[in-house]
Amino acid sequence: MLYYSTNRRSPKVGFEEAVLQGLAPDNGLYFPVSIPKLSSSFFKTIEELNPDEIAFLVAKQYVGDEIPEDKLKQIVKETLNFPVPLVEVKKDIYSLELFHGPTLAFKDVGARFMARILRFFLEKESKPATILVATSGDTGGAVASGFYDVEGINVVILYPSGKISTTQEKQLTTWGKNIFALEIDGTFDDCQKLVKEAFADSELKAKYGLNSANSINIARLLPQSFYYFLAYQQIKEKSKPFIASVPSGNLGNLTAGLIAWQMGLPVNRFVVSSNSNDVITKYLHTGLFESKPSVLTVANAMDVGNPSNFARILEIFNHNYNRVKDKLKGYSFSDIEIRNCIAEVYQKTKYTLDPHGACAYMGLQKELKESETGIFLETAHPAKFRETVNESIGQSIAIPDSLNAIIVKKKVAIQSQPSLDSIKKILSTLLK
Ligand SMILES: *Cc1c(COP(=O)(O)O)cnc(C)c1O
Repeated sequence: MLYYSTNRRSPKVGFEEAVLQGLAPDNGLYFPVSIPKLSSSFFKTIEELNPDEIAFLVAKQYVGDEIPEDKLKQIVKETLNFPVPLVEVKKDIYSLELFHGPTLAFKDVGARFMARILRFFLEKESKPATILVATSGDTGGAVASGFYDVEGINVVILYPSGKISTTQEKQLTTWGKNIFALEIDGTFDDCQKLVKEAFADSELKAKYGLNSANSINIARLLPQSFYYFLAYQQIKEKSKPFIASVPSGNLGNLTAGLIAWQMGLPVNRFVVSSNSNDVITKYLHTGLFESKPSVLTVANAMDVGNPSNFARILEIFNHNYNRVKDKLKGYSFSDIEIRNCIAEVYQKTKYTLDPHGACAYMGLQKELKESETGIFLETAHPAKFRETVNESIGQSIAIPDSLNAIIVKKKVAIQSQPSLDSIKKILSTLLK
């Protein structure tokens, strides 16, 4: 498979090159030149396949011969070493629980896959590498967990000071060894911008072998399409059309869903569910895409004011707004609505939503027709956001053991101003 840059001013490259570059030299995002369709027999027999087999068939389309089949099989198996259950919340509404991985958020899927793919390519070339990644909360922990103690790879995580939950902060500042956390005096958008600036600095990029682990990297993005197939596999009434509601920030998860759809997955519509950061909602209603500074919400992993995967979404729809708006329906929800939703769903069904899943749940409710099955993506375990969740449901939810073990550890982070000069200085002392 070849990958082109969405800015179209860089040459097309193979999978390995696209993964190692992260961002294309012209600052565009890599995207496959074509999205292969899976056979109708694949969809007919999907119930007989196990999750690894499904993931392998999907991944193979994009990796081609660049990784030996048995190695790729091992990589997808290790990526999905936890369940992705589809749980009925009430009639016709299902939660796709994506939070059973090591850091209790869906980003484990992309981060685990990418870590293993990068390890494979870097071992082959025996190059040193530094993963530079900006996080709005959950990416940092997932990437740290995926790369912890991997020889030859350092990980530097930029996170916005005071704008992520205590648990999320602990999940990225308590590792040690090859994992370094930079606490940036700014917003997630500042962090994302710094990472982009660092990549645009070719000297810096070469010096440390910089690589990104944000959803701009194709190896983070593509594996996220696995679980849309796993969701479909678990739908009992396959003759009924279904729609999927995706809690959205940087739009990576949504883009992966659209890729699954282009591969033949019969999704009727996607609901793009956001918090008060409503750039994409406004676009879907007006056709105008205007980035703006992000605002802090209780669903902070979606506090994004300039969603980076938007460029890829335009590619999927050939820049045709009418086609976009037929397939994607956008809704935004305030913190009050999120809290009320968590409370109400808990009272009525005993199901505990996290703030991101709550956005997806509300979007689904607005969009779901009687003839359809609705799936919303539950992207994080509610215990990761227990301050908000406990207040909403009026009691304390149980905390998984893996989380308890992290909460008691000591935070270690380096403070930095949101400037590339400051980041450069820190890198030069950290990575000697
Ligand atoms: C990152 C994240 C999102 C948003 O996903 P995007 O791919 O950035 O749109 C939603 N929910 C949770 C819990 C997240 O960590």
